[in-house]
Amino acid sequence: MLDVINPATEAVIARVESDTEASVAKKFAAAKKAQVTWRATSYLERARIVERFRQLLADSREESAKILTSEVGKPLAQSRNEVNGTLARLDFFLAETAERLREPVVLHDQAGGMTERIAHEPLGVVANISAWNYPYFVGSNVFVPALLTGSAVLYKPSEFATLTGQHIAKLWREAGLAEGLFQCLVGGGEVGGWLLDQPVDGVFFTGSYATGKRIIEKVAGRMIRVQLELGGKDPVYIRPDVNVKVAAESTADGAFYNAGQSCCAVERIYVHKDVYQEFVQHFVAFTKTLKSGDPAADGVYLGPLARKAQLNVLEDQVRDAVKKGAKVLLGGERPAGGKGYYYPATVLTEVNHSMAIMREESFGPVIGIQKVTSDEEALKLMNDSEYGLTAGVYTRDGAVASKLMADLNAGSVYWNCCDRVSPRLPWSGRGHSGIGSTLSVLGIDTFLKPKAYHLRLPT
Ligand code: NAD
Repeated sequence: MLDVINPATEAVIARVESDTEASVAKKFAAAKKAQVTWRATSYLERARIVERFRQLLADSREESAKILTSEVGKPLAQSRNEVNGTLARLDFFLAETAERLREPVVLHDQAGGMTERIAHEPLGVVANISAWNYPYFVGSNVFVPALLTGSAVLYKPSEFATLTGQHIAKLWREAGLAEGLFQCLVGGGEVGGWLLDQPVDGVFFTGSYATGKRIIEKVAGRMIRVQLELGGKDPVYIRPDVNVKVAAESTADGAFYNAGQSCCAVERIYVHKDVYQEFVQHFVAFTKTLKSGDPAADGVYLGPLARKAQLNVLEDQVRDAVKKGAKVLLGGERPAGGKGYYYPATVLTEVNHSMAIMREESFGPVIGIQKVTSDEEALKLMNDSEYGLTAGVYTRDGAVASKLMADLNAGSVYWNCCDRVSPRLPWSGRGHSGIGSTLSVLGIDTFLKPKAYHLRLPT
């Protein structure tokens, strides 16, 4: 059994039957069987079921948001944002996949001679092992295009987002998706491991670098499609020509939204010395206005962390930084007594790259702000990371921004914005941030196998 804990109260809110090695194998067999019919089903019929799923999610948006808040501690307004954003992603996938699947395409046709055409076939049965921080977003980035293109999905939500995973499975059933095509697997890493033991046709993983590395090592040699969306240590740079208050508030939101538990959360800030003091003042003043507390209550911006263990990670990072000379301007200590995995919004200055807080993913509401003296120094520091998910530049100067963005080693770059994902653009990481892309047309193609036809009419 798996206990589902509300991170705001530490109460067990549900007990759910975990999968076993045998049940995982059984679910794989059911998926394999169901996919044979699904791949032969017309795109229009597949899209009709996805449209129904979209409608059911829209109809149950409040319930869906409440379930999410109860198990991951995300403030309710942010859970609602995630559900609404998922509806927009569904719209994107429905429109774009229809376009993409207008196949087969005849590429070359010589009268009386050779015809060449290309067709796209579904991958088959895909394993979707997912993270808890945005279970609707990171899940739907995989299971929606996979189902639309004719694959079956074995979805293993994080053990910290089990109720949401089961809720999503229920919506698919109600939408009329045939049994076996979308199945939720309950459990933690062990269940994920059993899933990888099955002869799946693709592995689509969202989570930490450490787990991603284990996964790619486990399936190495099987020659199946593997996609890993991993962590980040995302930097932003503030040049002296900006509206400092606006930049400070924008980046504070990027750092503390969802208690900093976003893969693309701002994790490091470099500020030009000419506006450093002013930036820090505005940053701290704005951060103080962010209301923390019960994530189910109105107006709360900062809830608890989803996982108790992460509290120790944050404490260690802050302790290490302070030992090496950092100054804590805000937060830095867990509230004494009381229930829930709360950690306050924490702002550190006098930081440098000898400190874990500037190098290792924090995945919590802590931020280091470092002073720099030039664009060159900022660029060097921003690229000084094993990760490469996103990076942002705040400046009025478009030419400087373009040059810096071109030189940043990250899958997504931002100008005067941060912590942003768009369904129209590919979402990909470099280095320890992963391999492969979801979203955009690339995030549809990744679920397709091309087949090249060389056709000579009989004479
Ligand atoms: P995690 O690595 O702890 O777990 C991710 C998933 O892997 C869970 O479902 C877990 O049960 C499963 N798992 C764990 N061990 C496994 C094993 N040995 N074999 C198979 N499956 C296993 O990550 P998390 O705490 O759920 O998520 C947080 C991390 O995810 C952060 O690093 C964050 O940056 C990253 N993330 C990245 C993106 C992105 O798009 N790049 C999006 C969201 C989250």
